[in-house]
Amino acid sequence: MLIDSYQRRFSYLRLSLLPVCNFRCLYCLPNGNPKEVLHKKHLTRDEIRRLVAALTGMGIKKIRLTGGEPTLRPDLLEIAHAISEISEVEKIALTTNGYKLAELAGGLKLNGVNAINISVDSLKPERFFEITGQNLYFDVLKGIEASRRAGIEAIKINAVVLNGVNDCEIEDFIHWAERESLNIRFIELMPTADNGDFFKSRHLSLVFIETLLEERGWSLEKREESAGPADVWSRPGSMGKIGLIRPYSSNFCNTCNRLRVTSEGDLQLCLFGKGNIPLRPLLQDDAQKDELEHFVRSALGQKNFSHFLHEGDYGSTRNFATMGG
Ligand code: SAM
Ligand code: SF4
Repeated sequence: MLIDSYQRRFSYLRLSLLPVCNFRCLYCLPNGNPKEVLHKKHLTRDEIRRLVAALTGMGIKKIRLTGGEPTLRPDLLEIAHAISEISEVEKIALTTNGYKLAELAGGLKLNGVNAINISVDSLKPERFFEITGQNLYFDVLKGIEASRRAGIEAIKINAVVLNGVNDCEIEDFIHWAERESLNIRFIELMPTADNGDFFKSRHLSLVFIETLLEERGWSLEKREESAGPADVWSRPGSMGKIGLIRPYSSNFCNTCNRLRVTSEGDLQLCLFGKGNIPLRPLLQDDAQKDELEHFVRSALGQKNFSHFLHEGDYGSTRNFATMGG
């Protein structure tokens, strides 16, 4: 088991497959991909296989493939397949903007992906375009449908709440969750090194959603020990669920159970941390497995108990596209 100095247990890896994206979300890549990331050399399939094999040997059971936009990687299905062949892996998940899912969902399912999170920040096509810079709202909806038809067991929708942009759509999202039995998670906008001004004008605490849910007869579910950062709400008679992800809430760090590895193979101990720990030199040969394990265990000893957002320090990450959010 991987355990840090605060007795938190790590069973979950978020692995970025590439730092590049085809969307330009206002809070993430409003000016498109920074030039310097276009030349970065992302981990190869063999390096990924070695990484996952070593980490699963230490108790990691769930792997989330993210990015940037992971479906832009032409070898995505081969990567999923290679991971699915590692016997200790219990769950392979994908986080995607969904634009290519209509084409990929069946192949993902066949290659072991059993959970997909899809980002949908607006239910209005024009606003979806305003936020993402892409006129692909209906393609994303087709992708959700295709994922359901393919039999992906867990589908979640992620929506980042933006003051004065999509906060008027919260009720529509809740109705959508009820009508379609969807699991929708509202994410509080988080600050990064690049989005400072945007964050100041668009950040909104999600307390108003809690009030709304209570008024509509929803209640907060009891938190399971292995639960992630979301507070989950449900309502009798509704198969849909609503999750709230709030980086400033105490659950966010107390329940941290995840490691993050960037597309270049750097270990990041915290979403809002500073400095990366390169693992790539230890991913060149299967024989390096023990050395890699030892290195990761000692690196985890440097993990802080909490981020420093409350002190106004949000780390050195320029945007979440570089390391998967
Ligand atoms: N491109 C994929 C997508 O958008 O789902 C995967 C990568 S994206 C970085 C992962 C998640 O991070 C998305 O749900 C996105 O909305 C969220 N995200 C990105 N920047 C964020 C920010 N500054 N605050 C809150 N969530 C953010
Ligand atoms: Fe791309 Fe995801 Fe960032 Fe949007 S949030 S720009 S889809 S990486």
